[in-house]
Amino acid sequence: MVEVKAKHTLHSGIFHPVLRQWQSPNVEITVNNLMYPIFVLDEQNAKEAIASMPGVYRYGINELRKTLLPLVSKGLQSILLFGVSKHLKKDHIGSNADSLQNPIIQAVPLIRHWFPNLLIACDVCLCPYTIHGHCGILNEDGSINNKASIARISEIALAYAKAGAQIVAPSDMMDGRIGAIKNKLAAAGLINKVAVLSYSVKFASGFYGPFRDASQSAPKFGDRKCYQLPPGSNGLAARAAARDVSEGADMLMVKPGLAYLDIVRHTKDAHPEYPMFVYQVSGEYAMLYHGAQNGAINLENVLNEVLLSMRRAGADCIITYFTPLILDMLQPKKYGIIVTWAYR
Ligand SMILES: [Zn+2]
Repeated sequence: MVEVKAKHTLHSGIFHPVLRQWQSPNVEITVNNLMYPIFVLDEQNAKEAIASMPGVYRYGINELRKTLLPLVSKGLQSILLFGVSKHLKKDHIGSNADSLQNPIIQAVPLIRHWFPNLLIACDVCLCPYTIHGHCGILNEDGSINNKASIARISEIALAYAKAGAQIVAPSDMMDGRIGAIKNKLAAAGLINKVAVLSYSVKFASGFYGPFRDASQSAPKFGDRKCYQLPPGSNGLAARAAARDVSEGADMLMVKPGLAYLDIVRHTKDAHPEYPMFVYQVSGEYAMLYHGAQNGAINLENVLNEVLLSMRRAGADCIITYFTPLILDMLQPKKYGIIVTWAYR
């Protein structure tokens, strides 16, 4: 039998909850580490359940205030808005992405008014508004017209900024869109009032399935493999983040989360000066939800573990559909302090 030497004893450092917390001083979940994605529908009084994402809804503008009020009172700090178009006409250039009928253009000023301290990010993409469902403007042969795409995407970003968005978040993965957006913001005098959160490292992933149901943005033909990154592409991931940094991105993102935590760590190590976002995407949400529903896992315990793994990998902020549940978990406990999950 091998004798355990005193200095090799690990248990002495973790037998008490406070000791355990001290072992993970920079790995915790607070309200600052959360961004809540919300689908805003062009049907003012609607609240539509999303079948593939139980507990997640598409909200009409008239439902937003009462939905957000309890979350803001529990500490919600930032939201990420996605427009969903049910009635607006789709065309080849996504005209309704920034028209006055667009649900984001309409919702942002109201949310700013209702919740002046809530930070509002808007997803910027063409796919919910184009007839073909792709994230850019296409040439006649179906390939991406990069120049036209980034001109249009930057127009949409500017429109959301003018509506009051404090963060614009292009998710299209077109080459050059960060620089194009920054130039448009600068020309409009908004460069120091609007941040750009780049979906810089977005992989072509099977985990997006439920989202396409939620935002009704599945491509009508083909797929997005010509502009989203191949799952094994470490090199492209690094180049994509470096490119967006060089074009002036304020914050970086890796998407999806759980299957790409090595990429999160590489990206954070390569660009430690930049806040790092991780998107826990729809398929990740659905897996945890259904796993818990079927009795395979305890949702709160496993969610806690997954979120901590993202923080450990280098994420400063996690975009997650579980935000309402996490806010409940973070409410003051009996000592009147915010108890972080790392204590549990
Ligand atoms: Zn898109």
